[in-house]
Amino acid sequence: MNEAAIRSITILGGGTAGWMAAAMLAKKLDPRTVHITLVESEEIGTVGVGEATVPLFCHFNATLGVDEHAFMQATQASYKLGIEFCDWGVAGNTHFHGFGDYGEPIDGIAPHQHWLRLHRAGDTAPIDDYSAPYALARRGKFMPTDPRQPRYLHAYHFDAVLYARYLRGLAESRGVVRVEGRVVDVPLDAETGHIRALVLADGQVVDGELFIDCTGFAAELIGRRLGTPYVDWSHWLPCDSAIAVPCARAEAPAPFTRSTALAAGWQWRIPLQHREGNGVVYASAHMRDDEAEATLLANLAGAPLATPRRFRFTAGRREAFWRHNCVALGFASGFLEPLESTGIQLIQNGIGRLLEFFPDRHFDPAVCTEYNRVCGAEWDRIRDFIIAHYCVSQRPEPMWQAARAMDLPDTLRHKLDTWRATGRVPLLDGESYSESSWAAILLGNGFLPRRHDPLIDALPVEALRASMARRREDMARLGRAAPDHQVYLDRNCKAAA
Ligand code: FAD
Repeated sequence: MNEAAIRSITILGGGTAGWMAAAMLAKKLDPRTVHITLVESEEIGTVGVGEATVPLFCHFNATLGVDEHAFMQATQASYKLGIEFCDWGVAGNTHFHGFGDYGEPIDGIAPHQHWLRLHRAGDTAPIDDYSAPYALARRGKFMPTDPRQPRYLHAYHFDAVLYARYLRGLAESRGVVRVEGRVVDVPLDAETGHIRALVLADGQVVDGELFIDCTGFAAELIGRRLGTPYVDWSHWLPCDSAIAVPCARAEAPAPFTRSTALAAGWQWRIPLQHREGNGVVYASAHMRDDEAEATLLANLAGAPLATPRRFRFTAGRREAFWRHNCVALGFASGFLEPLESTGIQLIQNGIGRLLEFFPDRHFDPAVCTEYNRVCGAEWDRIRDFIIAHYCVSQRPEPMWQAARAMDLPDTLRHKLDTWRATGRVPLLDGESYSESSWAAILLGNGFLPRRHDPLIDALPVEALRASMARRREDMARLGRAAPDHQVYLDRNCKAAA
């Protein structure tokens, strides 16, 4: 028994970050020894827009002990096999970043290298024809992969407001106590600088030993009270605004997110069972708010179901996510545009690492240094991946030209230079994306390596052509055999109308 074990955790904020943290900590910690309180303010409200996830999220649900189909019914969820990118690279271009690779290596070498060789020899089949998730997605099909021989992964689209409600139910059933109120003061310990308590507008005082800042863009604890600097990345990621609106469904939900590039940003389309989520992310230096709103409304598949909501943000992250006895999650820890649906992933990994490095009341600085190093590396690598979508594009508009001309982070420059020279992607510390994900974005945008791997030339080109044709046929068979996404949803997890 550690005499200095944490006995109380106070989470400030009840958006996606706050309730994810509450549900997971309540699951992992013993409620008889650790008391968890969540303070939130209905008056302030939540952002409530993060609706697309990545496959890692399935582990979050599994760890919580959540049944997939029950969760999907409760949140009007649909399946997601990847992201379709339209008009990225050049207008008219379409490519897919699927949750899977392009098949087994051939003679130990990644299939995109062999594709490159055939492409150079004049073959026209797109790389996406070798992607198992795309074989289903392009046909509007879905079924989970065969676990004995997994060929792809899946994630979900869900209603963010219903998801927060769902998590709140889970967390409260496991003993988390919710306190309603607005925090107006945060006293610090004069000796250690640690947070002592939260003081609410009605005079209540909520104390705690470990505090989790989930206050969204306000960053009340990590930012305002503890003064942790924000590292601004807007010179690399100039989109600083978004406008979002749900609309009625016009067709069966697609099993993927769609992202369509615009003159100064991009538009998302997220299909759910009961509606679609839509939004435009844009650089206000290149697109006015009224233009963004007009573009959003003009591109809806069905009638808008609410008044569009605007958001302003600055791409970047906190210099440290953990200081003293405070850990920041969600927007309080930083912001990256939702191009690859990484907001919830970063929250999930932040919670996972907090559990991995769970402190005692000594709050040994070595623990938070390591936490900050690992989380920082992940943020920086995701940042690089998102910048890559912009800087390799050939689109002619000023925002895209500026993205091509800018000085890149050294880590991204190294990746792109190595890719151009060898068709390989050097994976660094803290990577979230595999080589096939990088290949999907770089090849999809027409950013081809100068040469393919010289070792693959030993295989006669006709033999390679025949083997790659068999792979394409295999993919097409896989896609044809799966049920329609809508049929699969109706059979397994149909939500109430
Ligand atoms: P919020 O939702 O803002 O919650 C903040 C909480 O803090 C609220 O409960 C508020 O009441 C409380 N609070 C604040 N100040 C106080 C105070 N003084 N006293 C008491 N309570 C207080 N991520 C994805 O993974 N996929 C996506 O598709 C995606 N799309 C996005 C689209 C847009 C336009 C944006 C902006 C983000 C998107 N994200 C997405 C990111 C995702 O929405 C966020 O990661 C997620 O919503 C986390 O929000 P949060 O909980 O940090 O903050």
